[in-house]
Amino acid sequence: MVAQEESKLRVYNTLTARIEEFRPIKGRRVRMFVCGPTVYDYSHLGHARTYVAFDIVARFLRKLGYSVFYLMNITDIDDKIIKKAQESGTTAQEIADKYTEAFFEDMKTLNITSVNLYAKATDHIDEIIDQVSVLIDKGYAYEANGSVYYEVRKFKDFGKLSGQSLENLIAGARVEVVEEKKNPEDFALWKAKKEGEPFWQSPWGLGRPGWHVEDTAITMTYFGAQYDIHGGARDLIFPHHEAEIAIAEAITGVKPFVKYWMHTGFLNIEGEKMSKSLGNIIRIRDIVKKYDPMAVRFYLAYTHYRKPIDFTTETMDDVVRAYNRIMGAYRLLCEQSEGNKNELAERADNVMHDFMKEMMYDFNTRNAIASIFRLVDDVYKYGEDSTPQAKAKARRVMEEFFDIIGISPIIATHAEIFENIMDILLSIREEARKRRDWETADKIRSELKKIGIIVEDTANGPRWKIGASMRSIAN
Ligand code: AMP
Repeated sequence: MVAQEESKLRVYNTLTARIEEFRPIKGRRVRMFVCGPTVYDYSHLGHARTYVAFDIVARFLRKLGYSVFYLMNITDIDDKIIKKAQESGTTAQEIADKYTEAFFEDMKTLNITSVNLYAKATDHIDEIIDQVSVLIDKGYAYEANGSVYYEVRKFKDFGKLSGQSLENLIAGARVEVVEEKKNPEDFALWKAKKEGEPFWQSPWGLGRPGWHVEDTAITMTYFGAQYDIHGGARDLIFPHHEAEIAIAEAITGVKPFVKYWMHTGFLNIEGEKMSKSLGNIIRIRDIVKKYDPMAVRFYLAYTHYRKPIDFTTETMDDVVRAYNRIMGAYRLLCEQSEGNKNELAERADNVMHDFMKEMMYDFNTRNAIASIFRLVDDVYKYGEDSTPQAKAKARRVMEEFFDIIGISPIIATHAEIFENIMDILLSIREEARKRRDWETADKIRSELKKIGIIVEDTANGPRWKIGASMRSIAN
């Protein structure tokens, strides 16, 4: 009975403010959408926090046998993009293209590979215009001076995601006061063209889409009126996700628009959310110059996705040390030995069970990783004296863990590391020879000879040998 309960996946749903059993709308198919970046600058560690978290969610769901369609939008038209283009004397499109490319590179660096489709807002202008037209026809939206606004008071459920009344939400938020709006809380679905801004044709004249309707147009294109998981960081609950619900449910009448709403905690620095506007960002591309990208990913996974991460160099260094200890244990498991102890096999089974149990309870990576630490301790204790079978079992558990957390360890044997160092050394020597720097080239060769490595220069480039084996650097 206990085992059966444990085998049910549970998810915290912001919509119901409860942990619920996860049951997709249709069979074992999961349609998941996560709010993507606004591409006007390089992505930072805060973005990485959210995208690593949902990458792990998708990986884990797939591991459980669900067929996951993971969709992410790219906000490639927005005030911030236009402003950046104006400041740098280029077009909004050039800015968006440049930072979309950079975003993909950063995602690849962090091994965030689970997204099936990235959809750009500007590729869905027709669908956006269709949605705005329907909202006007149904009386939820009105046109004013070429712009279109959603009249929030018309949607009686507004606030249901954050569990607050419209009045409370308005009181706590900075709502934009624009003369032409009927009420301050109304939000733009379509923005009339301003001088120097990109624009598209629409029934209301030239203009561009508002932010919230981009996402509903994209999700309805690929998923229809209803889907399983919508994710983002918690700052998006209001107004963005409330607005998405108001748009989608008003258009289709299908409720709930999304079955499970999942929100990540912020990555903070000194108590404040890491964000471009606060000027406290660490770019992904900068932090991976200092730390192994997989260690960065591990650091982000080490906190439960709903909890905040308070970034400091000290905690990062601590977690990286823990990561290196895990990798050391894995390396030990990859090495051959002929011990006779079997303890590791049984421990590996227990750890796998605990790891899965923690992940099943709202993707608790923190506790799941704690169970891996127990295995790591055992590997250091028994590893060298264990049977090959016991080691293989422990190794499989660690590989399963790497797979779910999304770490691809590059574990080289000492022999491989040695060969790589030889390659580096001999290519430095080749460069010296090309510069006619014979002194350096000869020094490398004579120093290597002292430790028993012979270097020969052949017509096909340099080769080296220890004892009888002869290798060229190309191999
Ligand atoms: P943006 O490009 O600012 O629209 O953000 C893209 C995604 O990253 C959204 O889901 C944001 O909520 C999330 N995000 C931005 N900053 C942080 C942060 N400091 N911590 C966690 N998530 C963040």
